[in-house]
Amino acid sequence: MPIDTTALIDDLTARLDADTLITDPDRVASYLHDEAEWAPYGKPAAVVRARSAQDAQAVVQVCHQHRAPVVARGAGTGLSGGANALDGGVVLSLELMREIVEIHELERIAVVQPGVVNDDLRAACAERGLWYPPDPASSPWSTIGGNAATNAGGLCCVKYGVTRDYVIGLEFVTGTGDLVRVGRRTAKGVVGYDLVGLLVGSEGTLGIITEITVKLRPLRDPERTIAGYFPDLVSAGRAVTAVAAAGLTPSALELVDRTCLQAVDDWKNMGLSTEADTVLLGRIDTPGAQGDAEAALMEQVFSDSGAGFAVVSSDPQEAELLFAARRLAYPALERLGDVLTEDVCVPKSQVAPVLAEIQAIAARHDTVIANIAHAGDGNLHPLLITQPGDAAARERAQLAFHEIIDVALAAGGTVTGEHGVGLLKMDGLHAELSAPVVELHRAIKSAMDPAGILNPGKVFRAHG
Ligand SMILES: Cc1cc2nc3c(=O)[nH]c(=O)nc-3n(C[C@H](O)[C@H](O)[C@H](O)COP(=O)(O)OP(=O)(O)OC[C@H]3O[C@@H](n4cnc5c(N)ncnc54)[C@H](O)[C@@H]3O)c2cc1C
Repeated sequence: MPIDTTALIDDLTARLDADTLITDPDRVASYLHDEAEWAPYGKPAAVVRARSAQDAQAVVQVCHQHRAPVVARGAGTGLSGGANALDGGVVLSLELMREIVEIHELERIAVVQPGVVNDDLRAACAERGLWYPPDPASSPWSTIGGNAATNAGGLCCVKYGVTRDYVIGLEFVTGTGDLVRVGRRTAKGVVGYDLVGLLVGSEGTLGIITEITVKLRPLRDPERTIAGYFPDLVSAGRAVTAVAAAGLTPSALELVDRTCLQAVDDWKNMGLSTEADTVLLGRIDTPGAQGDAEAALMEQVFSDSGAGFAVVSSDPQEAELLFAARRLAYPALERLGDVLTEDVCVPKSQVAPVLAEIQAIAARHDTVIANIAHAGDGNLHPLLITQPGDAAARERAQLAFHEIIDVALAAGGTVTGEHGVGLLKMDGLHAELSAPVVELHRAIKSAMDPAGILNPGKVFRAHG
């Protein structure tokens, strides 16, 4: 049955404060899609900027009654189309729920609303000598709610794990509009199924997260930065495997290739692209002499793997500049054209051969593919760049995108390391998961969202 959007808006108006509900098309326009190029999006009936869990609950209850889709949205920095609006539904923005409810120093936990920006939580923790490790490169903008819903990774995850390793409790609205709490505040707890783990990474398809309890760690010692300048992409890839083979556990190991370095230089004039084809940036945070020894070993491994220049940086400002270039790579590339971001993750042993395949795919499809990577995790982000309006180039890039997925799966990898499935990786999910496993997903979805209103049509196909 088609959605009666007039009645839907009337019912939302009756349950919500006037300034919470947005229907003006000009204002709705900025909530239509995330940062994923080329993922389709629809025309929602309204946007609701929730101020409380009760607002979120009211939206789900009204949408349940009208069988209208609800798309949760944090900051919209997603790279898979997960937050893209659906026809006739509601985009439920959690961006105004940005209170850090509690930071408990003794228990080493924080309780936050979903709209808290990652860097804001990290800064508040640091003031108390504590650290929230998950650090997506989007940390200045992305929200903890979005990070939890996508199980975001980041730079230090190579040593400290991803968002799921830190989320221990959640409050969320189910697909039938119940507001429930799952998980714990304690160091341990095994009561019932791990619904927290299930919600983390569910991309808005199983519940609307309204509060998050995370574990914290003590602030750590300053890191050492080790830079390796490589003559080509594949030798840098070999160095990634060699770092693991040497028994090192870096606190970051990032890769940035020539196209990215050039784009950052053209924008910020940092003088990086003249020095290397591909840069590996390692970090070691082991304290004391042991840390010095590990940093020296990483420098040696870089040199032995073919780096023309490798150095343990003694200058914190210079080291920060290198990592700033890594973080700027994505926005710098966006200045060159439309960017389609890949997110495959492969075994560490396969980084070099898969990078070689990606180069071959770029040549075969006549497509510019830049590369950044959380290389230490084997999490590769080939970035496919096309000129706006060039339909043929776009078609070639799409073929390349799918071939990279095939290559990653053949190498024993996964179609998405951290960005999530959303819309862009739905075919990939069906290629990676067996039919019985997809059926389990459908059964879980129908238990938690029987009317199928929470971000329907994302992550996996409802049938077939
Ligand atoms: C420059 C740049 C760098 C990036 N670097 C990284 C990186 O290093 N690691 C990484 O993992 N990702 C990275 N990303 C991708 C993106 O930032 C992450 O996926 C992030 O977790 C999304 O957070 P958000 O608040 O923007 O969520 P959104 O994009 O708004 O939403 C993402 C998904 O979560 C759902 N969602 C959002 N809030 C809720 C909620 N409260 N309840 C239920 N579902 C919800 C949405 O429906 C959607 O499916 C990067 C993106 C950019 C643009």
